[in-house]
Amino acid sequence: MPQRLGVFGGTFDPPHRGHLAVAVAARGQLGLDRVLLVVANDPWKKSPGREITPAADRLAMAQALIRGDDGQPITGLEVSDAEIRRGGPSYTVTTLRELREANPGAELYLIIGRDLVDDFGSWHESTEIERLATIVVVDRPGYVSDAKRGWKLLVVPPVDVSSTELRDRLRDGRDVSAHMTQAVVDEIHQRGLYGVGASA
Ligand code: ATP
Repeated sequence: MPQRLGVFGGTFDPPHRGHLAVAVAARGQLGLDRVLLVVANDPWKKSPGREITPAADRLAMAQALIRGDDGQPITGLEVSDAEIRRGGPSYTVTTLRELREANPGAELYLIIGRDLVDDFGSWHESTEIERLATIVVVDRPGYVSDAKRGWKLLVVPPVDVSSTELRDRLRDGRDVSAHMTQAVVDEIHQRGLYGVGASA
């Protein structure tokens, strides 16, 4: 049986329970051997619009996310620093090509949220992305788009949260516990991110 590999890219600024729910559901529903949370180095679609937290911090938070609530690694979830090691703008097509080379014969599944579907055609070499991977769309509260032929749908219990909302909440000192795991919150405190004092 060929290896089935999920690729779930993101800025993860910060990672939240919505991301975790998607990764866990993808692994189970699609029968994936592994789901890689690929942390973008420079999310070129977002970086012109706002300041992005340093990649090393986002990587550490993503690693904390996949330790789960009990601090134990969640089976089948991994964090990839491939785009950070590569540097520069993070192109999904390059990541998929590298994964193909590193895992000959593997089937790749690229998991994206519904909010990204309409813009997908503007991704770097989007046609090539569709050739390299099966695209899997996961619904996200507040977003609708047409289904595309040949794309799969993933059914995940809705988690209505975004990193943008959490950055705001953290900066305002509001509660984030409903949407973030404790390990990620601890990482944020240790690193003093989002205006949260290291001693808080
Ligand atoms: P921001 O608010 O900063 O734009 P975000 O919450 O959208 O960030 P990203 O790291 O950009 O988080 O998202 C990575 C991937 O996870 C994308 O495919 C996105 O569509 C998906 N995603 C993020 N949040 C959710 C959610 N609550 N439910 C389903 N998918 C999600």
